[in-house]
Amino acid sequence: MKKKTKMVHGGITGDERTGAVSVPIYQVSTYKQEAAGKHTGYEYSRTGNPTRHALETVIAELENGKAGFAFGSGMAAITSVMMLMNTGDHVVMTDDVYGGSYRLTTKVLNRFNLDHTFVDTSDSEKVKAAIKPNTKALFIETPTNPLLKVTDLKQMSEIAKENNLLLIVDNTFATPYWQTPLDLGADIVVHSATKYIGGHSDVVSGLVAVNSEKIAEDLHFIQNSVGGVLGPQDSWLLMRGIKTLGLRMEAIEKNTHTLVAFLENHPQVETIYYPGRPDHKGHDIAKQQATGFGGMISFDVGSGEKADQVLSRVKYFTLAESLGAVESLISIPAKMTHASIPWERRQELGITDGLIRLSVGIEDSEDLIEDLKQAME
Ligand SMILES: *Cc1c(COP(=O)(O)O)cnc(C)c1O
Repeated sequence: MKKKTKMVHGGITGDERTGAVSVPIYQVSTYKQEAAGKHTGYEYSRTGNPTRHALETVIAELENGKAGFAFGSGMAAITSVMMLMNTGDHVVMTDDVYGGSYRLTTKVLNRFNLDHTFVDTSDSEKVKAAIKPNTKALFIETPTNPLLKVTDLKQMSEIAKENNLLLIVDNTFATPYWQTPLDLGADIVVHSATKYIGGHSDVVSGLVAVNSEKIAEDLHFIQNSVGGVLGPQDSWLLMRGIKTLGLRMEAIEKNTHTLVAFLENHPQVETIYYPGRPDHKGHDIAKQQATGFGGMISFDVGSGEKADQVLSRVKYFTLAESLGAVESLISIPAKMTHASIPWERRQELGITDGLIRLSVGIEDSEDLIEDLKQAME
């Protein structure tokens, strides 16, 4: 089955009993048992719920994994995956991971003595140098936010195998439509499904897909023990989102290319970060390991004042955090998503005050260009 067909027909579809074409929302917490301990496979909805199960099946299929898991947010998903570690273990992580992953690692998991090192994982030598005797996992995000740095997943997989490490990949930006890390040797893929997978700015959720029965068993134990599960209504919304994920990603990418071409020729724009540009560092790797470059663009207009001006004038771009929705969003990472990073560190990373981040939606690209044009005059 090709990907777009899988998004519509994959997993569990409809309801055999009634012929309903859409999976019912099983708004239920418990299930009648025939005799004590003799049940249909469902006993309590933290452990398993049919609507959530249908979603978990489709994400496993989309990522070419053995099993899938749905959580109440991307962070609940990442936290549960990190619970596979033990106290005293060490994890090597991409240095510009999502802020929430950084906070979880440095302010919460550290209290349980889970050690970490942040490195630029686009440089494999740095990754190798960071590995210690107690290292148990590589946690990679690619492409990253907001500078869209790319890490070579095949290379990470080789390093992970040589050192007997779990390879965990945050695939939120690429989505399984463009990139399937398990095929490149990853063990676990995590998503903030709040973003492209949901796609309509109406649900907060996280998804995980894993490549082995053993990890599946361990993660289900953690999911059931920790309990950060996704509810049936939100599970259903994600399945609806997934049906159009391919169409949306293609429309988004087409608009993104058009916007990049516009920005490249704009005198106010000093630097553009987009993995689809041949001069973007990591472009060749992005091209090898993904079938598309996604819908995130960052560009520098030179100063915080100019960036503020653009944001105050746009009409179709909504000034908001988050990304991956049908509506185009605009933000200044230095003042919003990355404000908690010290100024000096932001300069080192290239997250300047004049850096604007776009999450391109599915509107008509002519309107989007008109909007940016008038905002940058
Ligand atoms: C948003 C995001 C998360 C966290 O997901 P939530 O659904 O907000 O909890 C994790 N990783 C990346 C790359 C994200 O963009």
